[in-house]
Amino acid sequence: MSDELEQKHQKKMAKLKEVVDARIEQAQEERGVLIALKGNGKGKSSSAFGTMARALGHKQKCGVVQFIKGRIETGEQLFFGNHPGVDFHVMGTGFTWETQNRSQDIEAAENAWKIAESMLQDASYQLLVFDELTYLFKYKYLDVNRVVTALQARPKHMNVMITGRTLAREIADIADTISTVQDDKHAFRAGVKAQPGIEW
Ligand code: ATP
Ligand code: MG
Repeated sequence: MSDELEQKHQKKMAKLKEVVDARIEQAQEERGVLIALKGNGKGKSSSAFGTMARALGHKQKCGVVQFIKGRIETGEQLFFGNHPGVDFHVMGTGFTWETQNRSQDIEAAENAWKIAESMLQDASYQLLVFDELTYLFKYKYLDVNRVVTALQARPKHMNVMITGRTLAREIADIADTISTVQDDKHAFRAGVKAQPGIEW
């Protein structure tokens, strides 16, 4: 690099450092966050479980409630369900996405939510993942205001991640971080069969 280029680069980096340092200085609040992962693309649940691996690396106690009927045991259930640092719950059988038995579905949703609610009251958890929670609002199986109240009353240090294609406005309003996973392309549409380790 010529001297002139080198100087220009250094000046630019010094300026960037100033900006970044100022931002770091500003972000000093220490508390747990509510993260919502939404959208039609692939990567919501895997992001939540990736974050859980990160938390476990720091020996943080984690809890999971998967709000979807466990048809097949997923890789995340087989892996994290056996981890001593994780309490893993999958919504009980009786849940049908096709809503063929609405009262049974509501009961299953209610039971799963009760587990989630008790986790939210237990300060020993550092990270909770509520996978596919958003479906319950879509089908009106669960009152969103009840969920908002429980989320807001959780211990200050607790991080919570919620996944699901759609996000209720009430949850979006209280979320700290929201990421939308966009569906640009998916192998399934090109005829590639779903496979363990990738899809479940
Ligand atoms: P993942 O668990 O892989 O992170 P996700 O949580 O973002 O996916 P879900 O809506 O929960 O997505 O769907 C889970 C399953 O559906 C996965 O097997 C995933 O590959 C598949 N899937 C996700 N998005 C699409 C899509 N746009 N088209 C087809 N299949 C999809
Ligand atoms: Mg998912």
